[in-house]
Amino acid sequence: MPLVPLPELLSHAGANKYAVGYFESWDVYSLQATVAAAEASNSPVIIGIGGLSCSHEWLQSGGIEIYGAIAASLAARSSVPISTLFNEADSFREAAGGLGAGFNSVMMHTQGWDQDKLLADTASLVAASHAVNVAVEGEIGALAEIKDGVLDAAGASYTSPEAAELFVRETGVDCLAVAVGNVHFVTGSHVPTVQVDLIKQIGEAVNVPLVLHGGSGTPDDQTQRAVQAGITKINVGTKLKFVYGNALVAELGSTVDDPNLAFGSRFEADVNSRAGVALAKEIQRLMDVFGSTGQAKR
Ligand SMILES: [Zn+2]
Repeated sequence: MPLVPLPELLSHAGANKYAVGYFESWDVYSLQATVAAAEASNSPVIIGIGGLSCSHEWLQSGGIEIYGAIAASLAARSSVPISTLFNEADSFREAAGGLGAGFNSVMMHTQGWDQDKLLADTASLVAASHAVNVAVEGEIGALAEIKDGVLDAAGASYTSPEAAELFVRETGVDCLAVAVGNVHFVTGSHVPTVQVDLIKQIGEAVNVPLVLHGGSGTPDDQTQRAVQAGITKINVGTKLKFVYGNALVAELGSTVDDPNLAFGSRFEADVNSRAGVALAKEIQRLMDVFGSTGQAKR
């Protein structure tokens, strides 16, 4: 079906008390596995690529256009509602590169920016994006992250309901990513504590859907409480590369018998396809946790 606007996906999720997953991908195999998982679970889904885990040099030298075209093409062929997101661009300029490239939503990674630049650049991106029917996700507050296996909370700050209200009013963003104890890049044993009451307070202060980044490390029970408190979009990235990478290592073994079959063949012996099956299985599990399974039927 044609691309579905992100606000439409999120408003259905809000009305029906579930969250849509943004499952960050990195190539054709991971994109196709994500769409296959959504179809198997009859779930809406958000697909795309993000600037925090990809070379900006690659993105800005054709990567945005190449990736957007593939994502949009897969979405058009799919039977479930899909939005495409260029996630966490490093600047207004890079995010604007997503406009007209196949993405129907864009977001900038603005943590650490000063307030004037944050408001001005986000408002400019909203104006440019809305002119071509693309939605904008904004963010206010800053997530802690795992760096070299250790929690780095030096630049982290919770989203305050007052700052959120001002930001949404001044910029006109379509949805808002919040920092409520969620943590980026969790691969190990760190367990974040999501402040459910803060999500509710922010939800009362703004009239746009709320987004939870750091879906890789948030335990399932906390995720479900966050959804009940008003989160309608959850970003997952790190965990997906972890699942895919481990499956790839296991499938590769120590020798390659037939390289023509093992790589890019799309036959049973294709190691990337086999890792894609493991990836799709994890995405389907997460769709159950988020409550989006079965929600593609309107
Ligand atoms: Zn993120």
